[in-house]
Amino acid sequence: MKRHATGVRSSEIFPRVPPCPPWLKLCLALPLAIALAGTAACAKGSSANANTSASAAEKSEAPEAPAPAPQPYAPGSAPLPHIDAKRAFEYTREVTAFGPRYMGNENHKKLESYILDHLKGDQVEDDTFTADTVEGKFPVRNIIAKYPGTKDGIIVIMGHYDTVYSLRNSGFVGANDGGSSTAILLEFANQLRTPGKKRDGYSVWLVWTDGEEAVKTWSDTDSLYGTRHLAEKWEKDGTLKKIKALMVMDMIGDADLDIMRDTNSAPWLLDLIYAAATRLGYQSHFYALQGPIEDDHLPFVKRGVPSADVIDLDYGYNNVFHHTPQDTMDKLSPKSLQIVGDTIMETIQMLDQR
Ligand SMILES: [Zn+2]
Repeated sequence: MKRHATGVRSSEIFPRVPPCPPWLKLCLALPLAIALAGTAACAKGSSANANTSASAAEKSEAPEAPAPAPQPYAPGSAPLPHIDAKRAFEYTREVTAFGPRYMGNENHKKLESYILDHLKGDQVEDDTFTADTVEGKFPVRNIIAKYPGTKDGIIVIMGHYDTVYSLRNSGFVGANDGGSSTAILLEFANQLRTPGKKRDGYSVWLVWTDGEEAVKTWSDTDSLYGTRHLAEKWEKDGTLKKIKALMVMDMIGDADLDIMRDTNSAPWLLDLIYAAATRLGYQSHFYALQGPIEDDHLPFVKRGVPSADVIDLDYGYNNVFHHTPQDTMDKLSPKSLQIVGDTIMETIQMLDQR
């Protein structure tokens, strides 16, 4: 389980101020830290501007500067991405049908084979080790698929495929929590695969992470087993320095999609994702809620890697379906996979142009 102890609706950040047009002025006038905290609140009500802090920066420029504001994220005329969400939804259904998939169990092994079967012909690596936990030792296997690009640098997309060990006998199957992240990465693989040539942009590495979930109670030492190991490994071998951006997909299938603005993530990357969503007309599904999330990005955030967690931690009213047997396919929608999938593919295109 990921904590967001102080997660709040953006509209609750400044509860005593009137709604948006005055807020916009308030945000521009307030000190930077408060302005950043209010970015989502302001952006939410503003259909024109995805990046309030950029707008604030523009306003502070000398008035005599004649040149138009630079467009660092300009998408140009690149066609809008469109993943096969129906296929991604079917993957989610198939993954969920394996049942509980906690570290080391039989269903987990079947799922490993299922993922690898979908990556035939791709460049695939393993990061395997044994995790020593309060519930004993578990085999852990991160699966990495690499799609080389023409540009020097790597974009990493991650999503966990394990389910919660402590819920193994509860009927928990993790359709959203574990299933949707596994599936969207499989569909990204379909989109990124360019047989016989490099993709036009950065290399993209997809990582199906293992041991994201706690085995007993979420803490710094009981959680994120796979990514803590991988971050350390990539620090030692120099990979971390090459990562331009890292994005984590988690619980992105909820039919009522509200991607949170995670305050542990890099603000510029969150803003870029929002700009991508806006280009696709999906911005209303982003950042109505904000707060600190602990997820697979944290071991990389701690090492200075620009990272973003793309997560909907508002799963059912008051998050009631999270880590319960109610996390089932009927709560999910292919439309949500479409929204997140297209937005992340567009974000990759925008990153490629930087
Ligand atoms: Zn979880």
